[in-house]
Amino acid sequence: MFPNCPGGLRQRCALRWLLALGIGWFASIAIVAASPTDKVRIQLRWLHQFQFAGYYAALEKGFYQQEGLEVELVEGSPDRQPVREVLAGHAQYAEGNSEVLLARLQGERLVALAAIFQHSPSVLLALRRSGIESPHDLIGKSVMLMDNRNDPDFLTMLLNEGISPDRVNVLPSSFDFADLLEGRVDAFNSYLTNEPFLLQQRGIDYTVINPRNYRVDFYSDILFTDEDELRNNPRRVEAVRRATLRGWRYAMEHPEEIIELLITRYGVTKSREHLRFEAEAIRGLMLPDLVEIGHMNPQRWNHMADTFVRAGVVKDTNGLEGFVYGEFRERPLPAWVAGSLLGGAVLSVVATLLAIHFFRMNGRLKRAENEVRTANQMLTEKLAEIEDLHERLQERAMRDALTGLYNRRYLDETLGRELARAKREGYPLCLALIDMDHFKQVNDTYGHMAGDEVLQHLGRLLRSNAREGDIPCRYGGEEFALVMAGMPLAAARERAEAWRSLFAASPVRHGQLSIAVTMSVGLAAYPDNANTAEELMQLADEALYRAKGEGRNRVALAG
Ligand code: GH3
Ligand code: MG
Ligand code: MG
Repeated sequence: MFPNCPGGLRQRCALRWLLALGIGWFASIAIVAASPTDKVRIQLRWLHQFQFAGYYAALEKGFYQQEGLEVELVEGSPDRQPVREVLAGHAQYAEGNSEVLLARLQGERLVALAAIFQHSPSVLLALRRSGIESPHDLIGKSVMLMDNRNDPDFLTMLLNEGISPDRVNVLPSSFDFADLLEGRVDAFNSYLTNEPFLLQQRGIDYTVINPRNYRVDFYSDILFTDEDELRNNPRRVEAVRRATLRGWRYAMEHPEEIIELLITRYGVTKSREHLRFEAEAIRGLMLPDLVEIGHMNPQRWNHMADTFVRAGVVKDTNGLEGFVYGEFRERPLPAWVAGSLLGGAVLSVVATLLAIHFFRMNGRLKRAENEVRTANQMLTEKLAEIEDLHERLQERAMRDALTGLYNRRYLDETLGRELARAKREGYPLCLALIDMDHFKQVNDTYGHMAGDEVLQHLGRLLRSNAREGDIPCRYGGEEFALVMAGMPLAAARERAEAWRSLFAASPVRHGQLSIAVTMSVGLAAYPDNANTAEELMQLADEALYRAKGEGRNRVALAG
């Protein structure tokens, strides 16, 4: 060893060699730790517009940069579809709609990181003079869909309404709105956030067919990646997600700034008024004051997947596990990877032993570095804990602890907004107020605990019979409320009648006892008899009072 060193100096040579090795190792760690920036490409779903506001905000405000990311945002086009771009490795991240879930169920290992819109903006528009007002009017008509025959939203809507998709003439979208305006097609797949503005500006009367009114309510504008990226770069995934959501929060607080940016930096030619319309419509789909931006409920994803199966778009929901970020499960490593890792680990141990020798001479430096690293780690963990706590607190603030239903506060905040939307989009809305009959007797006879069980029982009954879009609440002690958007009064009455008889026929088990309780229901509806949230409340309450007076265990209608 050390043949170039004269005999007596061998020991010092060995030390120098070790020192050089140590410096090299330390320098390489320093280079990796300070690795300048991670280049990342995010594929947008369509051309630059307010729909992607959060991404521009994250880029322009330096949120990506602060995470060590150098991000390129790529505009979408018919040839640049998000799912295809990620699968082909052209982009690591993208924003897409329900086709992301569809691809996952078809076996592509995609992972949803955040649902930016809680509801989908994708609707069908038709000119009022065509007479098309509901899915039934589409029979024998031509409809342009962006995803052609595979669009699960519209396919499911038709099936929910008992219409065979073969009876509608579906064409691939030309993406040219003039085809609708000039009558070459009867209905056109559009975004609620965009095309209605053009029609309103030209004074053209139109109708909207929104799948949401036909029990299809999907997440939209989903930030996603694939499992390889998540496995190889978990920190980068978290960083992209964190910075993007930060960007969205900023964008929704400063919409005018983003509009300015779109016009001056991104070459968007829409008018400010048009972009403002878009921003407001998006706010209605994101509900940023109500729901944490990006929030995803795994149950809702399950429901969407079930909907696809029912629509016959996919066979089963087997591929879903691992789709929702945060629920990702690592699979066992292949043997060759494990072998390489072991080899790598042995090498690291050797390198570490050498380094330890070097660090003995630089003890203070090492301690300082360790302390910084530990503090950093603790800080990251604390931040994650705080974020998690914040999310749980927000959720808890709108829930009733005993039944898990929404609480009165949530109902009071939501009813006005739901009614405004019903008016804007032209569908009915019903409010049912429910009060248990002689509930005091239940408490007096069987005790308060038994009473609580009866309350929970009714909570479960309401939840399991709720449609997508219903808002079941515990309004007060033994009073419940249910908002039913898109439901005409006659249908709401039938549903209320069904719950009433179901509840009366399903006594609650309490130990050896079986407790039979009944309930009374008061119903009021827009536009039938109420025009404001206060009127809805008051009229439903009066109807409830009448149901009680007429002998209880019945449904009474306002008016
Ligand atoms: P009716 O509505 O048919 O006129 O008779 P009622 O006996 O139900 O009338 P009332 O509204 O006066 O009584 C409601 C009772 O509900 C009073 C209270 O003891 C009970 N209650 C309210 N909140 C709770 C709760 O959280 N748990 C239990 N166990 N009981 C509750
Ligand atoms: Mg009461
Ligand atoms: Mg009562």
